[in-house]
Amino acid sequence: MTAPVNDLMDFDEVLTRFDPVMGLEVHVELATETKMFSASSANFGSAPNSNVDPVSLGLPGALPVVNARGVEWAIKIGLALNCSIAESSRFARKNYFYPDQPKNYQISQYDEPIAYDGYLDVVLDDGTTWRVEIERAHMEEDTGKLTHLGGAEGRIQGATSSLVDCNRAGVPLIEIVTKPIEGAGERAPEVARAYVSALRDLVKALGVSDARMDQGSMRVDSNLSLRPIGQTEFGTRTETKNINSLKSVEQAVRYEMQRQARVITDGGSIRQETRHYHETDGSTTAGRIKETAEEYRYFNDPDLPPVIAPREWVEEIRATLPELPWVRKARIREEWNLSDAEMRDLVNAGALDLIIATVEEGATPAEARSWWVSYLTQKANESGAELEQLDITPAQVAHVAALVKEGKLTNKLARQAVDGVLAGEGDVDEVVAARGLEVVRDDGAIEKAVDEALAANPDIVEKIRGGNAKAGGAIVGAVMKATRGKADPALVNKLIAEKCR
Ligand code: ADP
Ligand code: MG
Repeated sequence: MTAPVNDLMDFDEVLTRFDPVMGLEVHVELATETKMFSASSANFGSAPNSNVDPVSLGLPGALPVVNARGVEWAIKIGLALNCSIAESSRFARKNYFYPDQPKNYQISQYDEPIAYDGYLDVVLDDGTTWRVEIERAHMEEDTGKLTHLGGAEGRIQGATSSLVDCNRAGVPLIEIVTKPIEGAGERAPEVARAYVSALRDLVKALGVSDARMDQGSMRVDSNLSLRPIGQTEFGTRTETKNINSLKSVEQAVRYEMQRQARVITDGGSIRQETRHYHETDGSTTAGRIKETAEEYRYFNDPDLPPVIAPREWVEEIRATLPELPWVRKARIREEWNLSDAEMRDLVNAGALDLIIATVEEGATPAEARSWWVSYLTQKANESGAELEQLDITPAQVAHVAALVKEGKLTNKLARQAVDGVLAGEGDVDEVVAARGLEVVRDDGAIEKAVDEALAANPDIVEKIRGGNAKAGGAIVGAVMKATRGKADPALVNKLIAEKCR
């Protein structure tokens, strides 16, 4: 029997009874020009069925040809994950019908993957490192895409018709599978998030994928089982699919721990099944009973020869690895003299690369951090977007910071300039001109506004003369109001002090 959706055991209680075991399967779509086994474009977002050819449509007699760049990038990922690279690996057919996969099988790798036995060290929130062991990273092809019409939420259930788009069929995928992650206990959800986050940073740094979870170019399945504390054999796992954000990875693990614990404790049992994750309430619901590997009738693909990776080639690829994200982070932390907490905040905000780019455009690390981690993070949260999706570039942020430094904008005006850029009103200088934001440098105009404010507030002038410097704030306020916030505050304060001596 399956427990009702909301019947969850308290998380802390789960931990007193059970030990979670977790396995993560991450699919990364490679950003190659062409598909894995044919010359069609692998571009995302083209008109439906415009990137197709006999191979990706499974036409009779069509023969696949391996994309060398795809193999090179698979090796690159394998090396960065500290894997062994197979001298010879093979493609296999994984047989199953799906309307968006016209061949009736997916070309994948089975018992001879290109990369195996690696690890990724991931940094947790408290700064400690957790080593996630990698079982294998193998090459395969993506399927096409179905759009279901007429049903609720675009689901197949209740749909009246479905559209097939084969553009994605044959786009290269790397599937990275962890060994079972044991002993994480209460940190299991956090380890899952941190691992996926580190992997995303890694493939982006390698330049092999844009790893956009929201667009499906990085997809995560999370396997979870519980075993009573003290037991060594694993329990039965479920595999949760369609998880499309880092936060959801963490929540899906947490939810399955709480759900499974309740089912088992109430005398029920866990079925080996796939489950769907629901963004809306962070729950999972049952999908299909999970096939075993035998049911896919894997066999070596007779159309494709083994993939041979000579050691010299592997070493050449190793030599092209860029500075890896964790090395880069350690270097930046050191160079900018940040605490663990400061570093964690900007990494969690997804701001590190943006801040580095902003510094490269001339801002100081402190200016760049302040913009991205506070104001722009707030703006991103308000619009429900990722920081990097905001319509502002590091160069524009650096330019705003420079205008503040030169005294041409106050912090407040600078935020308005940023608002204008985000709203698509143009480049920084255009927004400053169009919105009339520049600080008034005309000393005469400011002096006039100060004189008027002093004349209108004789009582305050008395207070200032009497030694109450704070009273000047009201005059500054009046001047700012008169100049619509554009007077240079330093100049205003100086004039007030002179005139009230
Ligand atoms: P499948 O073909 O079913 O997707 P994979 O081997 O690709 O299987 O992935 C299974 C994942 O689940 C791996 O990460 C593996 O380490 C993990 N795993 C295997 N058994 C268990 C278990 N009992 N509990 C939790 N995770 C498991
Ligand atoms: Mg799998």
